Amino acid sequence: MDKCLLHVCCAPCSIAVIDELKNDYDLTVYFYNPNIYPEQEYLKRKAEVVRVCNEWKIPMIDADYETQNWEECTKGLENEPEGGKRCLNCFAMRLNKAGEYAKQNNFDIFATTLTSGRNKKADVIHPLGFKIAEKFGLKFLDIDWKTEGRQEKGRKMVKDRGIYRQDYCGCRFSIENRTQNSNIIRRGGQNHNLKP
Ligand code: SF4
Repeated sequence: MDKCLLHVCCAPCSIAVIDELKNDYDLTVYFYNPNIYPEQEYLKRKAEVVRVCNEWKIPMIDADYETQNWEECTKGLENEPEGGKRCLNCFAMRLNKAGEYAKQNNFDIFATTLTSGRNKKADVIHPLGFKIAEKFGLKFLDIDWKTEGRQEKGRKMVKDRGIYRQDYCGCRFSIENRTQNSNIIRRGGQNHNLKP
């Protein structure tokens, strides 16, 4: 069975992915998300990933909370819209770290749950994954986790377990987006819960 390192961003995005991949691979979860702000939120999201991994006894690597590195890789891009250049650097930084770990620890393949996110496009994330895979001599698993009913399955699994679901992507700039979105929604008189 191939060894697969799965970069995960949060429990809601990863639970259905882990459930699927654990049957096909010798799976290890890799949590590297120094984009998440503030630290309390980072710890909360990480604790939920730990809970999911414990359910199926999947090993989890808890990588460092290198906020300084994230600040450096997104410097000058503070005013970019969500989905713009700042996000591209943010994805690349996290995937590169996962690829590096996978290479150093003899994994065959690496993957990421990032494409589970509502605003995370596979045609942006997959080319990054392939480039990093090539750099480290790995294979990249290019599945768009939004497809084939996986989102619905994940939502049900999250609800059944009472897993915490955040309402912003992760960084401090995306918190501001949440506030703006909430204002727009309040004016419209509806109460949707925006999800990353
Ligand atoms: S909005 Fe999300 S993907 Fe974009 S920089 Fe912030 S945390 Fe990263």
